[in-house]
Amino acid sequence: MPRVAFLGLGAIGTPMARHLARPDFDLAVWNRTASRAAEFVAAHGGRHAATPADAARDRDVVITCLPVSRDVEGLLDGPDGLLATMPSGSVLVDCTSGDGATSRRMAARLAERGIGFLDAPVSGGVVGAERGALTVMIGGDAAILERVREVIACFGSTIVHCGGVGAGDALKAVNNALLAMHLWGTAEGLVALEKAGVKSEIALQVINQSSGRSNASMNLFPERVLTRAFPRTFRLALLDKDVGIAAELARETQVPSPLLQLTSELFRMAHRELGEDADHVEVAQLVERLGGAQIGGRGTNA
Ligand code: NDP
Repeated sequence: MPRVAFLGLGAIGTPMARHLARPDFDLAVWNRTASRAAEFVAAHGGRHAATPADAARDRDVVITCLPVSRDVEGLLDGPDGLLATMPSGSVLVDCTSGDGATSRRMAARLAERGIGFLDAPVSGGVVGAERGALTVMIGGDAAILERVREVIACFGSTIVHCGGVGAGDALKAVNNALLAMHLWGTAEGLVALEKAGVKSEIALQVINQSSGRSNASMNLFPERVLTRAFPRTFRLALLDKDVGIAAELARETQVPSPLLQLTSELFRMAHRELGEDADHVEVAQLVERLGGAQIGGRGTNA
């Protein structure tokens, strides 16, 4: 019976952890705000750990899913920290969409104690997490992945080994930078089309049959913008962080990247403007405000 700990019961961590609350697993959960862990245990089972150290005691696998890598690094030390109890031979699987430099630092520290590390960011959103159908991008030793694959497969239907430690982080950041570009670019285009008299419903119908389509145009705009639903599933603050990591990666690798740098600047501005709790799709509202027309409004000449 795999002994697993899950730390970080946020918007995506909670549905991921649910797949580990099963009779053939021994699960401990910890969350900074203890009431969320208590609610999780009441609803799904598992043991509510008082501290990260308590969660990690005797575990084979410790999974973390926090906003940024530095938050995970902050859980390592001190009497309540993971390193106080994580056994040699265990593995830390960090599902945070993190940054490679911090992941490599953590991996080196853990290796000194015989503990494995994988960066394992996920894509597929809250819906994918609920279905246990996330894509998991792994950075680290392929042999370590094989030891924990069974556990990751509970929430990941596609598990891809991307390279050494930090490779998963890098790929995830670039993927999300592309999401950000599609979101912003589609919003600008639709607002301009509205002002030119083309209804967004019609524009999306055509774009989604044509070469400009993306996940943003096919799913996010029809389901969340046209409906004005704007559900809060993935915070803009987190997408801002991801685009920042991608922009930094391009600078570090000395790749001329005006588009990545501009996207990073735009999302930093949007994050400042819309605040910590805004969803990423709410950037469409900012573009509407700047452009003076609503996506799915009337089309000024319609
Ligand atoms: P949320 O903001 O919903 O949740 C964050 C979680 O981390 C909460 O459990 C929070 O605890 C905890 N936390 C925050 N700061 C700290 C800290 N300093 N120390 C300990 N715990 C902390 O984030 P998500 O669940 O949406 O995202 C988690 C990660 O997954 C991020 O890296 C994100 O980019 C990534 N991701 C998210 C997706 C999504 O659709 N939401 C999709 C793919 C990746 P508390 O309850 O106390 O606030």
